[in-house]
Amino acid sequence: MNQHVLVLNCGSSSIKFAIIDAKSGDTPLQGIAENLGATNGLLRYAFRQEKTIIELPDNASHKDALSNIGAVLNKFDELHSSLIAVGHRVVQGGEVFTHACLIDDTVKEQIRDLAKMAPLHNLAHVAGIESAQAAFPELPQVAVFDTAFFQTLPKHVYLYALPYSLYEQYGIRKFGFHGSSHYFVSREAAKRLNKNIEECNLITAHLGNGCSITAIKKGIAVDTSMGFTPLEGLVMGTRCGDIDPSIATYMIEQLDYSAAQVSSLMNKDSGLQGISQLTNDCRALEDEQAKGNEQAKLALDMFIYRLVKYIGSYLAVIGPLDALVFTGGIGENSSYIREQTIIQLGHLGLAIDDTLNSEIRFGRSGLISSKHSKPIYTIATNEEWVIAKETINYAFKA
Ligand code: AMP
Repeated sequence: MNQHVLVLNCGSSSIKFAIIDAKSGDTPLQGIAENLGATNGLLRYAFRQEKTIIELPDNASHKDALSNIGAVLNKFDELHSSLIAVGHRVVQGGEVFTHACLIDDTVKEQIRDLAKMAPLHNLAHVAGIESAQAAFPELPQVAVFDTAFFQTLPKHVYLYALPYSLYEQYGIRKFGFHGSSHYFVSREAAKRLNKNIEECNLITAHLGNGCSITAIKKGIAVDTSMGFTPLEGLVMGTRCGDIDPSIATYMIEQLDYSAAQVSSLMNKDSGLQGISQLTNDCRALEDEQAKGNEQAKLALDMFIYRLVKYIGSYLAVIGPLDALVFTGGIGENSSYIREQTIIQLGHLGLAIDDTLNSEIRFGRSGLISSKHSKPIYTIATNEEWVIAKETINYAFKA
Protein backbone atom coordinates (compact mmCIF):
# COMPACT_ATOMS: atom_id res chain seq x y z
CA MET A 1 0.00 0.00 0.00
CA ASN A 2 1.48 3.36 -1.06
CA GLN A 3 1.87 6.01 1.60
CA HIS A 4 1.89 9.19 -0.42
CA VAL A 5 2.62 12.55 1.17
CA LEU A 6 1.98 15.93 -0.40
CA VAL A 7 5.14 17.91 0.33
CA LEU A 8 4.79 21.69 0.12
CA ASN A 9 7.48 24.36 0.10
CA CYS A 10 5.61 27.67 0.26
CA GLY A 11 7.61 30.80 -0.53
CA SER A 12 6.39 34.38 -0.76
CA SER A 13 5.57 34.15 -4.48
CA SER A 14 5.75 30.44 -5.22
CA ILE A 15 4.66 27.03 -3.95
CA LYS A 16 6.74 23.98 -4.85
CA PHE A 17 4.86 20.73 -4.44
CA ALA A 18 5.54 17.03 -4.80
CA ILE A 19 3.70 13.81 -4.15
CA ILE A 20 6.15 11.35 -2.68
CA ASP A 21 5.95 7.76 -1.55
CA ALA A 22 7.54 8.11 1.91
CA LYS A 23 8.84 4.54 1.85
CA SER A 24 10.48 4.40 -1.56
CA GLY A 25 10.99 8.08 -2.39
CA ASP A 26 9.14 7.55 -5.68
CA THR A 27 7.79 10.95 -6.82
CA PRO A 28 5.06 10.48 -9.42
CA LEU A 29 3.93 14.12 -9.45
CA GLN A 30 5.78 17.36 -8.83
CA GLY A 31 5.41 20.98 -9.78
CA ILE A 32 5.48 24.65 -8.91
CA ALA A 33 2.95 27.47 -8.73
CA GLU A 34 4.92 30.62 -9.46
CA ASN A 35 4.56 34.39 -9.75
CA LEU A 36 1.83 34.40 -7.10
CA GLY A 37 0.53 37.91 -6.41
CA ALA A 38 1.50 39.01 -9.94
CA THR A 39 -0.24 39.06 -13.29
CA ASN A 40 1.64 36.15 -14.84
CA GLY A 41 0.95 33.35 -12.35
CA LEU A 42 1.58 29.84 -13.66
CA LEU A 43 1.13 26.33 -12.36
CA ARG A 44 3.58 23.88 -13.93
CA TYR A 45 3.62 20.22 -13.07
CA ALA A 46 4.95 16.93 -14.35
CA PHE A 47 3.11 13.65 -13.86
CA ARG A 48 5.95 11.19 -14.44
CA GLN A 49 7.50 12.63 -17.66
CA GLU A 50 4.32 14.32 -18.91
CA LYS A 51 4.50 18.10 -18.41
CA THR A 52 1.54 20.53 -18.17
CA ILE A 53 1.32 24.31 -17.69
CA ILE A 54 -1.83 26.05 -16.41
CA GLU A 55 -2.32 29.83 -16.19
CA LEU A 56 -3.38 31.10 -12.77
CA PRO A 57 -5.74 34.07 -12.28
CA ASP A 58 -4.16 37.54 -11.88
CA ASN A 59 -2.83 38.21 -8.36
CA ALA A 60 -3.33 34.57 -7.40
CA SER A 61 -2.98 34.01 -3.66
CA HIS A 62 -1.53 30.95 -1.88
CA LYS A 63 -5.14 29.86 -1.40
CA ASP A 64 -5.84 30.11 -5.17
CA ALA A 65 -2.67 28.18 -5.92
CA LEU A 66 -3.50 25.41 -3.47
CA SER A 67 -7.05 25.01 -4.72
CA ASN A 68 -5.58 24.70 -8.25
CA ILE A 69 -3.08 22.13 -6.97
CA GLY A 70 -6.04 20.30 -5.39
CA ALA A 71 -7.83 20.36 -8.76
CA VAL A 72 -4.74 18.87 -10.44
CA LEU A 73 -4.65 16.08 -7.84
CA ASN A 74 -8.33 15.36 -8.55
CA LYS A 75 -7.30 14.40 -12.09
CA PHE A 76 -5.16 11.59 -10.70
CA ASP A 77 -7.73 9.70 -8.66
CA GLU A 78 -5.51 6.92 -7.42
CA LEU A 79 -2.80 9.34 -6.29
CA HIS A 80 -5.27 11.60 -4.55
CA SER A 81 -6.88 8.75 -2.64
CA SER A 82 -3.48 7.41 -1.55
CA LEU A 83 -2.53 10.75 0.09
CA ILE A 84 -2.29 10.33 3.85
CA ALA A 85 -0.70 13.59 4.99
CA VAL A 86 0.67 16.99 4.00
CA GLY A 87 4.25 17.96 4.95
CA HIS A 88 5.36 21.60 5.00
CA ARG A 89 8.94 22.79 4.79
CA VAL A 90 9.36 25.53 7.40
CA VAL A 91 12.61 27.50 7.27
CA GLN A 92 12.80 28.94 10.79
CA GLY A 93 11.89 26.77 13.78
CA GLY A 94 13.98 28.77 16.27
CA GLU A 95 14.65 27.12 19.61
CA VAL A 96 10.97 26.24 19.90
CA PHE A 97 10.97 23.34 17.45
CA THR A 98 13.68 20.75 17.96
CA HIS A 99 11.97 18.33 15.59
CA ALA A 100 9.03 18.12 13.18
CA CYS A 101 5.52 18.34 14.61
CA LEU A 102 1.84 17.98 13.81
CA ILE A 103 0.36 21.39 13.08
CA ASP A 104 -2.37 22.72 15.35
CA ASP A 105 -3.40 26.30 16.12
CA THR A 106 -0.64 26.71 18.72
CA VAL A 107 2.07 25.47 16.32
CA LYS A 108 0.76 27.81 13.63
CA GLU A 109 0.94 30.74 16.04
CA GLN A 110 4.50 29.80 17.04
CA ILE A 111 5.59 29.62 13.38
CA ARG A 112 3.98 33.03 12.82
CA ASP A 113 5.75 34.38 15.88
CA LEU A 114 9.13 33.15 14.58
CA ALA A 115 8.54 35.24 11.43
CA LYS A 116 10.28 38.14 13.17
CA MET A 117 13.52 36.23 12.50
CA ALA A 118 12.58 35.07 8.97
CA PRO A 119 9.82 37.40 7.76
CA LEU A 120 9.87 36.41 4.09
CA HIS A 121 9.84 32.70 4.76
CA ASN A 122 7.70 32.03 7.83
CA LEU A 123 4.79 34.29 6.90
CA ALA A 124 4.58 32.55 3.52
CA HIS A 125 4.68 29.18 5.29
CA VAL A 126 1.72 30.17 7.49
CA ALA A 127 -0.23 31.33 4.41
CA GLY A 128 0.60 27.98 2.78
CA ILE A 129 -0.39 25.98 5.86
CA GLU A 130 -3.76 27.75 6.16
CA SER A 131 -4.47 27.32 2.46
CA ALA A 132 -3.50 23.64 2.57
CA GLN A 133 -5.74 23.12 5.60
CA ALA A 134 -8.62 24.60 3.58
CA ALA A 135 -7.81 22.56 0.45
CA PHE A 136 -7.16 19.23 2.25
CA PRO A 137 -9.19 19.41 5.50
CA GLU A 138 -9.21 15.62 5.90
CA LEU A 139 -5.39 15.28 5.98
CA PRO A 140 -3.02 15.79 8.94
CA GLN A 141 -0.48 18.55 8.31
CA VAL A 142 3.07 18.40 9.63
CA ALA A 143 5.75 21.11 9.80
CA VAL A 144 9.35 20.03 9.13
CA PHE A 145 11.95 22.61 10.12
CA ASP A 146 15.16 23.49 8.26
CA THR A 147 16.72 24.41 11.59
CA ALA A 148 15.93 21.16 13.46
CA PHE A 149 19.03 19.25 12.27
CA PHE A 150 21.22 21.88 13.95
CA GLN A 151 19.73 21.55 17.43
CA THR A 152 22.83 19.52 18.32
CA LEU A 153 25.20 22.48 17.83
CA PRO A 154 27.03 23.10 21.13
CA LYS A 155 26.33 26.39 22.88
CA HIS A 156 29.88 27.71 22.37
CA VAL A 157 29.30 27.20 18.63
CA TYR A 158 25.81 28.63 18.21
CA LEU A 159 26.39 31.77 20.32
CA TYR A 160 27.82 34.95 18.82
CA ALA A 161 30.35 36.79 20.98
CA LEU A 162 27.85 39.55 21.68
CA PRO A 163 26.50 40.50 25.12
CA TYR A 164 24.87 37.33 26.45
CA SER A 165 21.66 39.28 27.17
CA LEU A 166 20.98 39.49 23.42
CA TYR A 167 20.68 35.73 23.39
CA GLU A 168 18.70 35.58 26.63
CA GLN A 169 16.27 38.35 25.77
CA TYR A 170 15.96 38.12 22.01
CA GLY A 171 17.19 34.65 21.09
CA ILE A 172 19.99 35.96 18.85
CA ARG A 173 22.14 32.94 17.95
CA LYS A 174 23.19 30.75 15.04
CA PHE A 175 20.37 28.46 13.83
CA GLY A 176 21.63 26.94 10.57
CA PHE A 177 19.51 26.18 7.52
CA HIS A 178 19.25 23.57 4.71
CA GLY A 179 18.94 20.99 7.53
CA SER A 180 16.92 18.44 5.55
CA SER A 181 19.52 18.45 2.77
CA HIS A 182 22.52 18.05 5.10
CA TYR A 183 20.62 15.29 6.93
CA PHE A 184 19.81 13.45 3.70
CA VAL A 185 23.24 13.53 2.09
CA SER A 186 25.06 12.68 5.34
CA ARG A 187 22.93 9.54 5.75
CA GLU A 188 23.47 8.61 2.10
CA ALA A 189 27.23 9.07 2.54
CA ALA A 190 27.21 6.76 5.59
CA LYS A 191 25.45 4.08 3.50
CA ARG A 192 28.08 4.44 0.78
CA LEU A 193 30.86 4.20 3.36
CA ASN A 194 29.17 1.10 4.75
CA LYS A 195 29.22 2.60 8.24
CA ASN A 196 26.68 3.60 10.84
CA ILE A 197 26.10 7.35 10.76
CA GLU A 198 27.17 7.48 14.43
CA GLU A 199 30.66 6.41 13.30
CA CYS A 200 31.00 9.07 10.59
CA ASN A 201 32.85 12.38 10.59
CA LEU A 202 31.59 14.25 7.53
CA ILE A 203 31.64 17.65 5.88
CA THR A 204 28.58 18.28 3.72
CA ALA A 205 28.56 21.23 1.31
CA HIS A 206 25.15 22.24 -0.06
CA LEU A 207 26.01 24.58 -2.95
CA GLY A 208 23.02 26.00 -4.81
CA ASN A 209 21.71 29.51 -5.15
CA GLY A 210 21.92 29.46 -1.35
CA CYS A 211 25.05 27.75 -0.01
CA SER A 212 25.84 26.22 3.36
CA ILE A 213 28.39 23.80 4.73
CA THR A 214 28.05 21.61 7.82
CA ALA A 215 30.54 19.84 10.08
CA ILE A 216 29.19 16.48 11.27
CA LYS A 217 31.01 14.62 14.04
CA LYS A 218 29.91 11.06 14.80
CA GLY A 219 26.69 11.68 12.86
CA ILE A 220 25.79 14.87 14.72
CA ALA A 221 25.89 18.43 13.34
CA VAL A 222 28.51 20.35 15.34
CA ASP A 223 28.85 23.48 13.20
CA THR A 224 27.29 25.03 10.11
CA SER A 225 28.00 28.12 8.06
CA MET A 226 24.55 29.76 7.92
CA GLY A 227 23.68 31.62 11.07
CA PHE A 228 20.92 33.70 12.64
CA THR A 229 19.65 33.99 9.07
CA PRO A 230 20.67 32.27 5.81
CA LEU A 231 22.97 35.25 5.01
CA GLU A 232 26.06 34.11 6.93
CA GLY A 233 28.84 31.91 5.61
CA LEU A 234 29.77 30.98 2.07
CA VAL A 235 29.60 33.23 -0.99
CA MET A 236 26.19 32.51 -2.58
CA GLY A 237 24.30 33.38 -5.75
CA THR A 238 23.17 36.81 -4.53
CA ARG A 239 24.11 36.74 -0.81
CA CYS A 240 27.46 37.98 0.47
CA GLY A 241 28.00 35.44 3.26
CA ASP A 242 30.60 36.43 5.90
CA ILE A 243 31.58 40.09 6.04
CA ASP A 244 32.79 42.49 8.71
CA PRO A 245 29.51 43.62 10.40
CA SER A 246 30.89 47.17 10.54
CA ILE A 247 30.33 47.43 6.80
CA ALA A 248 26.59 47.55 7.53
CA THR A 249 26.91 50.36 10.07
CA TYR A 250 29.36 52.24 7.81
CA MET A 251 26.89 52.10 4.93
CA ILE A 252 24.10 53.40 7.16
CA GLU A 253 26.11 56.10 8.94
CA GLN A 254 28.40 57.30 6.14
CA LEU A 255 26.69 56.35 2.89
CA ASP A 256 23.07 57.11 3.85
CA TYR A 257 21.74 53.64 3.21
CA SER A 258 18.64 52.61 5.14
CA ALA A 259 18.72 49.34 7.09
CA ALA A 260 16.31 47.86 4.52
CA GLN A 261 18.60 48.89 1.66
CA VAL A 262 21.63 47.28 3.32
CA SER A 263 19.69 44.09 3.91
CA SER A 264 18.44 44.01 0.32
CA LEU A 265 21.95 44.71 -1.05
CA MET A 266 23.52 41.93 1.01
CA ASN A 267 20.78 39.40 0.27
CA LYS A 268 19.84 40.16 -3.32
CA ASP A 269 22.67 42.07 -5.04
CA SER A 270 25.83 40.49 -3.65
CA GLY A 271 27.60 37.13 -3.95
CA LEU A 272 28.37 35.80 -7.44
CA GLN A 273 25.96 38.36 -8.88
CA GLY A 274 27.48 41.33 -7.08
CA ILE A 275 31.11 40.52 -7.87
CA SER A 276 30.64 39.41 -11.47
CA GLN A 277 28.15 42.21 -12.23
CA LEU A 278 26.74 39.67 -14.65
CA THR A 279 24.66 36.91 -13.09
CA ASN A 280 24.15 34.70 -10.04
CA ASP A 281 24.18 31.63 -12.30
CA CYS A 282 27.32 29.57 -11.71
CA ARG A 283 27.11 27.75 -15.03
CA ALA A 284 26.85 31.04 -16.96
CA LEU A 285 29.85 32.39 -15.02
CA GLU A 286 31.91 29.33 -15.94
CA ASP A 287 31.05 29.98 -19.62
CA GLU A 288 31.96 33.67 -19.28
CA GLN A 289 35.23 32.84 -17.54
CA ALA A 290 36.11 30.48 -20.40
CA LYS A 291 35.65 33.44 -22.77
CA GLY A 292 38.11 35.49 -20.71
CA ASN A 293 35.75 37.56 -18.55
CA GLU A 294 37.84 38.69 -15.57
CA GLN A 295 34.90 39.58 -13.27
CA ALA A 296 33.38 36.13 -13.79
CA LYS A 297 36.74 34.58 -12.87
CA LEU A 298 37.01 36.76 -9.76
CA ALA A 299 33.52 35.77 -8.59
CA LEU A 300 34.27 32.06 -9.04
CA ASP A 301 37.69 32.41 -7.36
CA MET A 302 36.05 34.08 -4.35
CA PHE A 303 33.36 31.40 -4.18
CA ILE A 304 35.99 28.64 -4.20
CA TYR A 305 38.34 30.37 -1.75
CA ARG A 306 35.59 30.82 0.88
CA LEU A 307 34.58 27.18 0.43
CA VAL A 308 38.17 25.96 0.84
CA LYS A 309 38.53 28.07 3.98
CA TYR A 310 35.40 26.57 5.56
CA ILE A 311 36.38 23.01 4.66
CA GLY A 312 39.80 23.59 6.25
CA SER A 313 38.28 24.94 9.44
CA TYR A 314 35.75 22.10 9.68
CA LEU A 315 38.52 19.54 9.16
CA ALA A 316 40.10 21.02 12.28
CA VAL A 317 36.81 20.71 14.17
CA ILE A 318 35.59 17.19 13.38
CA GLY A 319 38.77 15.13 13.67
CA PRO A 320 39.64 12.40 11.15
CA LEU A 321 37.42 12.84 8.09
CA ASP A 322 35.38 9.93 6.73
CA ALA A 323 34.02 11.80 3.69
CA LEU A 324 33.43 15.18 2.09
CA VAL A 325 30.10 15.51 0.27
CA PHE A 326 28.99 17.96 -2.43
CA THR A 327 25.31 18.56 -3.15
CA GLY A 328 22.88 21.26 -4.45
CA GLY A 329 22.69 22.59 -8.02
CA ILE A 330 26.36 23.65 -8.09
CA GLY A 331 27.67 20.81 -5.91
CA GLU A 332 25.88 18.19 -8.00
CA ASN A 333 26.70 19.65 -11.41
CA SER A 334 29.81 21.79 -11.43
CA SER A 335 32.83 19.55 -11.92
CA TYR A 336 34.85 22.80 -12.18
CA ILE A 337 33.96 24.08 -8.69
CA ARG A 338 34.55 20.63 -7.19
CA GLU A 339 37.90 20.20 -8.92
CA GLN A 340 39.23 23.67 -8.11
CA THR A 341 38.17 23.32 -4.47
CA ILE A 342 39.82 19.95 -4.01
CA ILE A 343 43.05 21.00 -5.76
CA GLN A 344 43.58 23.55 -2.99
CA LEU A 345 42.99 20.89 -0.32
CA GLY A 346 45.58 18.42 -1.66
CA HIS A 347 47.88 18.93 1.33
CA LEU A 348 45.04 17.79 3.63
CA GLY A 349 44.69 14.35 2.05
CA LEU A 350 42.00 15.13 -0.54
CA ALA A 351 42.43 14.46 -4.26
CA ILE A 352 39.98 14.31 -7.12
CA ASP A 353 39.69 11.67 -9.86
CA ASP A 354 39.27 13.71 -13.05
CA THR A 355 37.34 11.04 -14.94
CA LEU A 356 34.92 10.27 -12.11
CA ASN A 357 34.48 13.99 -11.42
CA SER A 358 33.63 14.84 -15.02
CA GLU A 359 31.07 12.02 -15.22
CA ILE A 360 29.00 13.04 -12.17
CA ARG A 361 26.32 15.59 -13.04
CA PHE A 362 22.59 15.87 -13.82
CA GLY A 363 21.34 14.44 -10.54
CA ARG A 364 23.78 11.52 -10.48
CA SER A 365 25.55 10.51 -7.29
CA GLY A 366 28.92 8.85 -6.83
CA LEU A 367 32.50 8.87 -5.63
CA ILE A 368 34.70 11.53 -7.25
CA SER A 369 37.94 11.10 -5.29
CA SER A 370 41.09 9.32 -6.40
CA LYS A 371 42.31 6.08 -4.80
CA HIS A 372 44.81 7.92 -2.56
CA SER A 373 42.28 10.41 -1.23
CA LYS A 374 39.84 10.42 1.66
CA PRO A 375 36.43 9.68 0.07
CA ILE A 376 34.71 12.60 -1.68
CA TYR A 377 31.16 12.12 -2.93
CA THR A 378 28.68 14.01 -5.00
CA ILE A 379 25.22 13.10 -3.73
CA ALA A 380 21.99 14.35 -5.29
CA THR A 381 19.97 15.79 -2.44
CA ASN A 382 16.31 14.95 -1.79
CA GLU A 383 14.93 17.30 0.87
CA GLU A 384 11.37 16.46 -0.15
CA TRP A 385 11.85 12.81 0.70
CA VAL A 386 13.19 13.74 4.16
CA ILE A 387 10.10 15.92 4.67
CA ALA A 388 7.80 13.10 3.50
CA LYS A 389 9.39 10.62 5.94
CA GLU A 390 9.29 13.06 8.84
CA THR A 391 5.67 13.86 7.99
CA ILE A 392 4.68 10.20 8.31
CA ASN A 393 6.67 9.91 11.56
CA TYR A 394 4.90 12.83 13.20
CA ALA A 395 1.43 12.79 11.56
CA PHE A 396 0.32 9.70 13.41
CA LYS A 397 2.22 9.96 16.70
CA ALA A 398 -0.04 9.32 19.66
P1 AMP B 1 19.92 25.23 -6.82
O1 AMP B 1 19.62 26.48 -6.04
O2 AMP B 1 20.30 24.07 -5.96
O3 AMP B 1 18.86 24.89 -7.82
O4 AMP B 1 21.24 25.55 -7.68
C1 AMP B 1 21.28 26.58 -8.64
C2 AMP B 1 22.74 26.79 -9.08
O5 AMP B 1 23.25 25.58 -9.68
C3 AMP B 1 22.90 27.89 -10.14
O6 AMP B 1 23.99 28.71 -9.79
C4 AMP B 1 23.24 27.09 -11.40
O7 AMP B 1 24.03 27.82 -12.30
C5 AMP B 1 24.03 25.93 -10.80
N1 AMP B 1 24.17 24.85 -11.79
C6 AMP B 1 23.22 24.04 -12.28
N2 AMP B 1 23.76 23.24 -13.25
C7 AMP B 1 25.06 23.58 -13.36
C8 AMP B 1 26.16 23.12 -14.17
N3 AMP B 1 26.01 22.15 -15.06
N4 AMP B 1 27.37 23.70 -14.00
C9 AMP B 1 27.55 24.69 -13.09
N5 AMP B 1 26.55 25.15 -12.30
C10 AMP B 1 25.33 24.61 -12.43
